[in-house]
Amino acid sequence: MHLHHPLKTRYLSVALCTGDAVRVPVWILDSGVPGPALLLVAAQHGNEVQGSEVIRRFIEKAAKRSLRGKILAVPFANPTALRQRRPHLNMGPEQPYADDRGHNMNLTWPGNPKGNDTARVTYAIDQAFGEEATHVFDLHCWSVQMAPMVLIDDEPEYRDLARKLGHRFVHVRSLGTVTLAGVLHHRGKIGITYEHAGQYEVNELEVLRCLRLVTNYAKAIGLLRGRLEPGDEPVLFSDETDAVTVKSPTSGLFVPAGCRLCDAVMKGYRLGHVLSDVNLRTTEVASPVRGYLRQYGAFRNNADVALTGRHPYVEKGDPLAIIVCPESDGFSARRGCKGGKSQTRPA
Ligand SMILES: [Zn+2]
Repeated sequence: MHLHHPLKTRYLSVALCTGDAVRVPVWILDSGVPGPALLLVAAQHGNEVQGSEVIRRFIEKAAKRSLRGKILAVPFANPTALRQRRPHLNMGPEQPYADDRGHNMNLTWPGNPKGNDTARVTYAIDQAFGEEATHVFDLHCWSVQMAPMVLIDDEPEYRDLARKLGHRFVHVRSLGTVTLAGVLHHRGKIGITYEHAGQYEVNELEVLRCLRLVTNYAKAIGLLRGRLEPGDEPVLFSDETDAVTVKSPTSGLFVPAGCRLCDAVMKGYRLGHVLSDVNLRTTEVASPVRGYLRQYGAFRNNADVALTGRHPYVEKGDPLAIIVCPESDGFSARRGCKGGKSQTRPA
């Protein structure tokens, strides 16, 4: 492969509490031309690995393009948690995410050289790139039933940028003061977080979707040349839309009908069916509104660390889908539909 720009691999060496060291490999792609410095970080949580592949492909693509500024990339921000195949350091089986004992990396920024082993790694990454970066894109993954989403702070500049990314769902919230995006935001830089759908896996469609997004990010800030790639239309902001939760009409096994997250569903569109464990009747589940799928499938807490959380057995009233309704429809979920239209037929 011919590269216009040389890709350098460097290693951040971090001294741990035990006296051992861990090495964090990083990539630097420097055009040598003044411009933005985009910091890409993935796998702060060791089970959230889709962004690592997105970074690899984006770097490969960017190296062959006309570039201004530089890309600073940390594909595996938390190597020890990655090797343990867990969200945070030293977690046991089925231990909830929130039970982090101070090791949730994205709550440790800007790190601490005398802190616990996670805060030390955070500190090393921040020391290496935190000042130089003008923009950050922090790649995470959440449960496979939840649509991939861009997370931004509530600022007009962020909204403009988020629109250009061309991704269906944008969640607007405070980025906080201890997350990577939040810390850089408070330093006057641009910090955007992203959640892929699906942990413990690398899904090709998820990778392609995010690759388009990060390419548009790079173009929007002038790092890459060229026109923005066409994306989702419309882009839906969480504070400008309503959402309807479709609840299970009965207990049983929810069998999804193969709808895809982020896609449009029409009113009456079939979402799946529930096979009752009580009387073996099949109940169809349809969308009560026209909108876009933000959540789909049997879903419960800790679906991200325990397989029981992903089991398709649902109880009556459990959420089966969340559908976001564009404001342009003049629809209000608050006064609108309460639940899914469903009909029963023998199994
Ligand atoms: Zn995460």
